[in-house]
Amino acid sequence: MPELPEVETVRKTLTQMILGKTIDHVEVYYLPMISPHSLESFKNKLHHATLDAIDRIGKYLIFRFDTINLMVHLRMEGKFFLKPSDAPRTNHEHIIYHFTDGTSLRYDDVRKFGTHGLKHDKELHTTLPISKLGYEPSDSRLTKHVLKEKLKTDRAIKTALLDQTVILGLGNIYVDEVLFCAKINPTRKARRTSLAKCETLIECSRQVIDKAITLGGSSIRSYTDSLGVTGRFQNELKVHLKADELCELCQTPIRKIKVNGRGTYYCPTCQKR
Ligand SMILES: [Zn+2]
Repeated sequence: MPELPEVETVRKTLTQMILGKTIDHVEVYYLPMISPHSLESFKNKLHHATLDAIDRIGKYLIFRFDTINLMVHLRMEGKFFLKPSDAPRTNHEHIIYHFTDGTSLRYDDVRKFGTHGLKHDKELHTTLPISKLGYEPSDSRLTKHVLKEKLKTDRAIKTALLDQTVILGLGNIYVDEVLFCAKINPTRKARRTSLAKCETLIECSRQVIDKAITLGGSSIRSYTDSLGVTGRFQNELKVHLKADELCELCQTPIRKIKVNGRGTYYCPTCQKR
């Protein structure tokens, strides 16, 4: 699943490629993927719309057209490709946005879990689940006091940090890396995190996510972004997918466990219970 740094890479890449283009017409081959579910309405609202900007809220891409916003979530396997309008459609291209300049943006999704919704400005921040999302690591509103409040739960810290209402944008890979950086055992109860550790967690989240964004994400498994750019962050991972390799700080073998069903990697020495 693409995580926040990968989605940011997609946003930057698409911005360079399609900003200023105007939609001629849209083809939809899988109706449950779009909202409103009325095909007529979806097509009409995008007809002759010009793309002014591409923003991101958490892992949602927001295509800001002059008339309406298109909110896209890539879910498990969503990818974009830019192709000539007359290029043949492949099996997994479910939505094609044709531009007036003879190019087209193809949304390719093997699993069909992605979503494309049209939203007015006002609706954007009131739409669930966007309205419930937490702050991203880089957001100055994310303070140790805010985090401490959000961690008042009996769940394991690993599970709590995967909840996007706590810190926005930390997925499975990055939570493992952040907990290693903060030297916190992933099974520790979230509510036992001290204020000082909350501060460390925020600093570590910033470091890990900033570095991943700089390097274009981690591209683990089959995920590649819209241009096939391969993220280099996977070379920087300290614990995730490193079972039995030696911790770079203390030489203890990295351990793999399951926390609430999620594969979790940590150093049993640096991250003592
Ligand atoms: Zn260690």
